[in-house]
Amino acid sequence: MLEADFVIIGSGSAGSAMAYRLSEDGKNSVIVIEFGGSDIGPLIQMPSALSIPLNMSLYDWGFASEPEPHLGGRVLATPRGKVIGGSSSINGMVYVRGHARDFDHWAEEGATGWGFADVLPYFKRMEDNDGGEDGWRGHGGPLHVQRGSRKNPLYGAFVEAGRQAGFELTDDYNGSKQEGFGPMEQTISGGRRWSTASAYLKPALKRKNVSLVKGFARRVIIENQRAVGVEIEAHKQIQVVKARREVIIAASSINSPKILMLSGIGPAEHLRENGIAVVADRPGVGGNLQDHMELYIQQESTKPITLNSVLNPFSKALIGAQWLFFKSGLGATNHFEAAAFVRSRAGVDYPDIQYHFIPAAVRYDGKAAAKSHGFQAHVGPMRSKSRGSVTLRSPDPKAKPVIRFNYMSHPDDWTEFRHCIRLTREIFGQSAFDAYRGQEISPGSHVQSDDDLDVFIRDHAESAYHPCGTCKMGRADDLMSVVDPECRVIGVDGLRVADSSIFPRVTNGNLNAPSIMTGEKASDHILGRTPLAPSNQEPWINPRWQLSDR
Ligand SMILES: Cc1cc2nc3c(=O)[nH]c(=O)nc-3n(C[C@H](O)[C@H](O)[C@H](O)COP(=O)(O)OP(=O)(O)OC[C@H]3O[C@@H](n4cnc5c(N)ncnc54)[C@H](O)[C@@H]3O)c2cc1C
Repeated sequence: MLEADFVIIGSGSAGSAMAYRLSEDGKNSVIVIEFGGSDIGPLIQMPSALSIPLNMSLYDWGFASEPEPHLGGRVLATPRGKVIGGSSSINGMVYVRGHARDFDHWAEEGATGWGFADVLPYFKRMEDNDGGEDGWRGHGGPLHVQRGSRKNPLYGAFVEAGRQAGFELTDDYNGSKQEGFGPMEQTISGGRRWSTASAYLKPALKRKNVSLVKGFARRVIIENQRAVGVEIEAHKQIQVVKARREVIIAASSINSPKILMLSGIGPAEHLRENGIAVVADRPGVGGNLQDHMELYIQQESTKPITLNSVLNPFSKALIGAQWLFFKSGLGATNHFEAAAFVRSRAGVDYPDIQYHFIPAAVRYDGKAAAKSHGFQAHVGPMRSKSRGSVTLRSPDPKAKPVIRFNYMSHPDDWTEFRHCIRLTREIFGQSAFDAYRGQEISPGSHVQSDDDLDVFIRDHAESAYHPCGTCKMGRADDLMSVVDPECRVIGVDGLRVADSSIFPRVTNGNLNAPSIMTGEKASDHILGRTPLAPSNQEPWINPRWQLSDR
């Protein structure tokens, strides 16, 4: 008999954290339903292999957007992890909490109790941080966070160029001061990817009260407006996993709204069109879809010091062997070791542009972009006003949903991206890069006018793989909210959603950390515990923000 107090759908960033916390005191039994399988092997565990699993149907759900009208009809891949650890097992391992103001904005939007003061203690609880700002970081938590060795001189050149251009430096963007140029953090430990499967799920599964059921969750079973279990397909059979207390959906920003709709919770008309009986008319389910986009700005390097010299099969084999035997060397890093968070203009009070820097000119799929040597910045705006949706393609649970991002549908997106390109040229133009700077590879120095930049943006802007917001958390009396601030699905008892889909708005940075934090905090709500005491620490805000972008 498959039955537990709590049944969690999805073992990803948030789901694994909840499996660990809900079972911690031994009083409750927990079943985690996960469709994906094992994470064993170098493709997932070796950090530098990061571009491989996201292209494999074994580890990725294989979603894609509909043709995007503002990107010339391009179809963009929307990878989501299908493996224990979920997307934290196929992501880029960059670790960013987000800016304090992001969470204050969540609270202002109706997610009461999720302001920065409220969430900071949860970020601390989850972390085992090495090298961050005293008093601001967590130690001894399940999630190991480290900094790269930054041996390549180009990392230092990038940070110095930021300083020369007049921007702030920050030694810990996850501490009090996000704004500035500085080292980037990684969820890597002992040379291995530190996914939530490693941090939370595997330790939880050692407890007698936690079990993992491999199966495909088709829908939540709701009787008299109360969730009582989950219908799954496992071993080619339909089975039911019963929940004595609650069902918690943590299936990602794409699959969580889909499961809600298949269970009769969503926009009533859309459900009826699909022949699904309406349990709760929640028009917000599947709406509010947001993401980050980014461009790669690539420059040739005149010195043969970049990773482009190790992209050949022989070097890759050597790197793989060193990693396999010693868990060290170039295989043991994601190569994102320098970063920046800056403001686009005077009047913006906290960063709205993020940079990742790597000493190589490569595409995300790992293919070389430079004939010889190069380096690149991934840059993109953080708070696009464009919004999209996830809807059902059919009532068949196996059908992939319809994903429409409407990327670049707001005029400000174009202004912001043009600025990102020009700003990156300014940074790469600083004297710190004099010893390394060759020709601009991409966009190419001939691309200068607004019109030409727009063509480049339309053809090359890529998803940073941060979809979120499709089961928005907010006030229970807000028609567009899907869950209340305790993550309870409005209109149905015994059912919660807790993952990146409940973010009211995308945060300033990559989404693994806030997704894990969501799982951590949701666990306290589910257990009926008093949330951790709010912090009184104040973030650093640039005193010149009204006058200058730097
Ligand atoms: C390629 C890529 C690169 C990224 N890079 C970074 C990065 O460097 N840093 C960063 O912070 N963030 C990054 N992100 C984003 C980040 O990893 C995700 O936002 C975050 O992991 C989302 O967590 P989640 O809990 O919402 O969902 P997920 O972690 O995706 O978990 C959902 C889980 O539910 C399971 N599931 C879904 N539907 C069903 C079903 N019907 N039945 C059973 N199981 C189901 C899935 O298999 C999965 O395990 C990246 C994401 C991707 C895809």
